[in-house]
Amino acid sequence: MYILLLTGLKKYDLSPDKIEFVVCTHGHSDHVGNLNLFSNAIHIVSHDICVGDTYMLHDFAKGIPYEIDDDIEVVSTPGHTGSDVSVIVRNTKHGTVAVTGDLFERLEDLEDFTLWQENSENPEAQQYNRMEVLKFADTIIPGHGPMFAVPNEYKQQLKMVMYYEQSTVEQGPSGSKTVSESSYTIIEEN
Ligand SMILES: [Zn+2]
Repeated sequence: MYILLLTGLKKYDLSPDKIEFVVCTHGHSDHVGNLNLFSNAIHIVSHDICVGDTYMLHDFAKGIPYEIDDDIEVVSTPGHTGSDVSVIVRNTKHGTVAVTGDLFERLEDLEDFTLWQENSENPEAQQYNRMEVLKFADTIIPGHGPMFAVPNEYKQQLKMVMYYEQSTVEQGPSGSKTVSESSYTIIEEN
């Protein structure tokens, strides 16, 4: 895995010691690794920041972005876990790019909610943050698929796929059972 990282950086004439910031969108093991290679970098892992050996607090939870420079910031986008972040990069040739981790798993999850909701700790919060990102992002780099341009109908908020599930516990003769009710709504404006 670290060979992939090194060759990827080399393509841009970079090496780990030249990297100033490393961001892990959330703590799942398929999204974090080899942080020790980047010994000169400020590390942001979910809502946690480390500068060298110093652990720093930042109020991501209150919605305050962490600014890396004028065009790059790290914002809180929880739902998949309780403390996910996304990296927002403005003024690129792909427009505004959002590196979202598993807030979006792949392009297909715009239409098929099961692709992201089954892995979500808090689907409502995740849905909210997905909508917020779709409002301003031109391009999304998702957690498990290739980069994609935000389709126009989503970008203009003409279309939104929502899914609600409600579970209730019912008492029956053979004990209690959980009944789930779900509704799936596509909102389209013309
Ligand atoms: Zn994950």
